[in-house]
Amino acid sequence: MTGPPLVPMVHLIEAASKPVVAAIEGIALGGGLELALSCHYRIAHSKATLGFPEVALGLLPGAGGTQRLPRLIGVPAALDLITTGRHVTAAEARQLGIVDEVTDLNAVDAAVKFAQSVTGKSLDARRISTYPCPRPPDLDAIFERAMQQVRRSARGAIAPGTCVQAVHAAVTLPYAKGMERERELFSLLFTSGQARALQYYFFAQRAVSRWSTANGARWDTSKPRPVRKAAVIGLGTMGRGITVSLAQAGFSVVAVETQEQQLSEAKQAVSGMLERGAKRRGVPLAHDKIKYSCSVQAVADVDLVIEAVFEDMALKKTVFQQLSAICKPGALLCTNTSGLDIDELASQTQSPELVVGMHFFAPAHVMQLLEVVYGPRSSPEVVATAMQMGKKMGKVSVAVGNCRGFVGNRMLKPYLEQAFFLLEEGATPEQVDQVLEEFGFAMGVFKVSDLSGLDVGWKVRKSDGLVSPASTGTSARIRGGSRYSPLGDLLCERGRFGQKTGRGWFQYDKPGGRVAKPDPWLHGFLEEYRAQHGLVARRIDHQEVLERCLYALINEGFQILQDGIAAGPEDIDVIYVLGYGWPRHRGGPMFYAGQVGLDKVVERLEHYQQIHPDVPGLQPCSLLRKLAASGNPAIHKWREVIQKPRSQL
Ligand code: ADP
Repeated sequence: MTGPPLVPMVHLIEAASKPVVAAIEGIALGGGLELALSCHYRIAHSKATLGFPEVALGLLPGAGGTQRLPRLIGVPAALDLITTGRHVTAAEARQLGIVDEVTDLNAVDAAVKFAQSVTGKSLDARRISTYPCPRPPDLDAIFERAMQQVRRSARGAIAPGTCVQAVHAAVTLPYAKGMERERELFSLLFTSGQARALQYYFFAQRAVSRWSTANGARWDTSKPRPVRKAAVIGLGTMGRGITVSLAQAGFSVVAVETQEQQLSEAKQAVSGMLERGAKRRGVPLAHDKIKYSCSVQAVADVDLVIEAVFEDMALKKTVFQQLSAICKPGALLCTNTSGLDIDELASQTQSPELVVGMHFFAPAHVMQLLEVVYGPRSSPEVVATAMQMGKKMGKVSVAVGNCRGFVGNRMLKPYLEQAFFLLEEGATPEQVDQVLEEFGFAMGVFKVSDLSGLDVGWKVRKSDGLVSPASTGTSARIRGGSRYSPLGDLLCERGRFGQKTGRGWFQYDKPGGRVAKPDPWLHGFLEEYRAQHGLVARRIDHQEVLERCLYALINEGFQILQDGIAAGPEDIDVIYVLGYGWPRHRGGPMFYAGQVGLDKVVERLEHYQQIHPDVPGLQPCSLLRKLAASGNPAIHKWREVIQKPRSQL
């Protein structure tokens, strides 16, 4: 830390015999707000923002924030602000009692004037540390609820619960003792791996905005093109969410859907989403921004198109041929494919440099992640435009190279594969999911699969020629010389597509039901399957489930870095936290690998590879080996070891 330590300073300010008025002109977050709370009065500009965001970085406000705020605004409001890290406007801060006055004029002038009006008045009642902390009669219930709330939302993150403990100290201990407790709790968090992971993640998210690509485009040298009007083709789940996101960001949108029934359903669904957005988040209603059409001809004058039709290469190719003929020269042609070849689509058009992937995540109006996929021919301005569009839509855009599944779905493949193999060897979906959820994932891999639909992967495997009708004998479990599990295909053949059919890896009370329950049928099915294939179930411990699933995924991440598909480990980590439910307090898969120790990851992968020589995904990739051999360097040094990404030109 540079500058004077904050705690003695806030005590000096508060103890001053002259009135000290805080003038809050812009943002008073964290230490800034703690400083303001030590002043005798606070004046804020109407545009000012206040809050304690420390919890998001795995910390707590450690300069008296947890002790002063509840004394000033009461326990429930203080718990809310400190455990969520939520920022408040000046108006809300006034309402809560954090600031004494809000001004539209210069805050410093207003504060000076205010100070003059209070000179000579006693400051006894203005020193917050001397206030008794309010004790509402249902205090225990308030803390109990707060703890339950953080347990539910924090998924293993320790900072929110520790914040609750610190506020509890403000109520139960005198100020000086409360400060000691705050310090103890702060250092507990500070020295935990979680704070380091969260801080790494914070900077990783910033780092991805300074993107660069293997074909030489860069955030600071590639100029985005202006986009005012956009189009979405195909109004399924994804297209609807993208339409909402575009309209809410202020773009005019032409929304095209060829199926009449689907179009009228989409109109209703989009309106509903816009209304809920306006009601819950105060986003301006944007109905009038959207024009619907059942003809692709309607996109002739737009600046950018996002194609979101069925995930079918032949269909997408036809759509891209049409778009190339219809759209005005220079219009960007983007695809929301979740893994198909961008370059193959680009080759259908007259201007392949205008084609990029914009891979949104469901639901697209909620999920913050956008993978911007550049092909070997995508022009730097086009990549820059897609990156900027994402930002304007409130997304975190990550630039990634073109390969099967891009970054996120490519890494998902070996992860899912291990989960299937574990079932074959004796695990159950509930066991695998429990281990992953205890690690901190919002949902285990089988519940996610039930939610997004087992048929999605089935279709892809079918078109890849992996789904074979021969379902017995050794060949049923081998493809291209490597181990393959047909379990997902067998479930689909029985119409078990997940939540939408009420049955998948779990059972649900009805089609569309959301609460997953273990399914005895599935257990019986697994037993039968093992017997049929001569597999003997064994007891699999939690450590093995975690290591095989996560290290296989991490290994693919290193391969992606080695191939130059992601520019750095930060890109991969941001994708996994924002798009795949990787717990933020574990930094992301690449950061986590570093924390475990790259040599340990290599050693465990080698161990499992020996047992499963027919699983190539368990073979540590050469970049991972190289990094491990160079002494497990800190993650920000990896780029020095990663060779310059191979040019894709
Ligand atoms: P997702 O779940 O990825 O959004 P869906 O399969 O739900 O995908 O939706 C794809 C939508 O695209 C469907 O509503 C389908 O009618 C529509 N669609 C298919 N082909 C075309 C096309 N050529 N032009 C416009 N819309 C199309």
